Amino acid sequence: MPEREQKVIMHAVMSTRGPFIVCHFCYSQLKDEAKLDPRDRAVSDTVSDEFCVNCYDRNKILIDDLAGSTE
Ligand SMILES: [Zn+2]
Repeated sequence: MPEREQKVIMHAVMSTRGPFIVCHFCYSQLKDEAKLDPRDRAVSDTVSDEFCVNCYDRNKILIDDLAGSTE
């Protein structure tokens, strides 16, 4: 039973294979570290290294896809 309702703002960050959906925390962090261009596209597919556990989990299919793009 959650005591506080957090309004979770999600952001889409474009990678070469599709959009990552990240939380506001991860998004701000990527912005701070200049890992996003002004149009919110990831400058590199390794931005997933910066994701929190939740975002990593949420985007795991895409992350795996990017990691194993040899298929
Ligand atoms: Zn996150």
